[in-house]
Amino acid sequence: MICSKCDSEVTSIFHSRDGEDLCKQCNNRRRVDSGEEGFFRCSVCGDLDNPNDWIGNHDMGGLCFDCNFWTDNLRQYKNGEKVVVDGHCYHVGDGREGKGFRGFAEFILSIRT
Ligand SMILES: [Zn+2]
Ligand SMILES: [Zn+2]
Repeated sequence: MICSKCDSEVTSIFHSRDGEDLCKQCNNRRRVDSGEEGFFRCSVCGDLDNPNDWIGNHDMGGLCFDCNFWTDNLRQYKNGEKVVVDGHCYHVGDGREGKGFRGFAEFILSIRT
């Protein structure tokens, strides 16, 4: 999909009320121009983001949602909470019920290192 404002190719598009197909950044710029509050510029990538769009609405230290997501994943990887096997990232969790993320339809996955 192509943004009708900046011509960049994106995987998701926002349909504005006046018929434009906008990428996330162009849509956020439109929201800032329309006076919507809460926007800031990410200290890493410079994108506009708004914590009001995030579930939980917590402070991410000046990072946008995407930068925070990957920074956090990298931190978890360095802490051994995540491992990469054959190019796939696995979360090393507490196997007990009710404890964090449990994937693989709750099958137990063993990682041999
Ligand atoms: Zn755009
Ligand atoms: Zn960012």
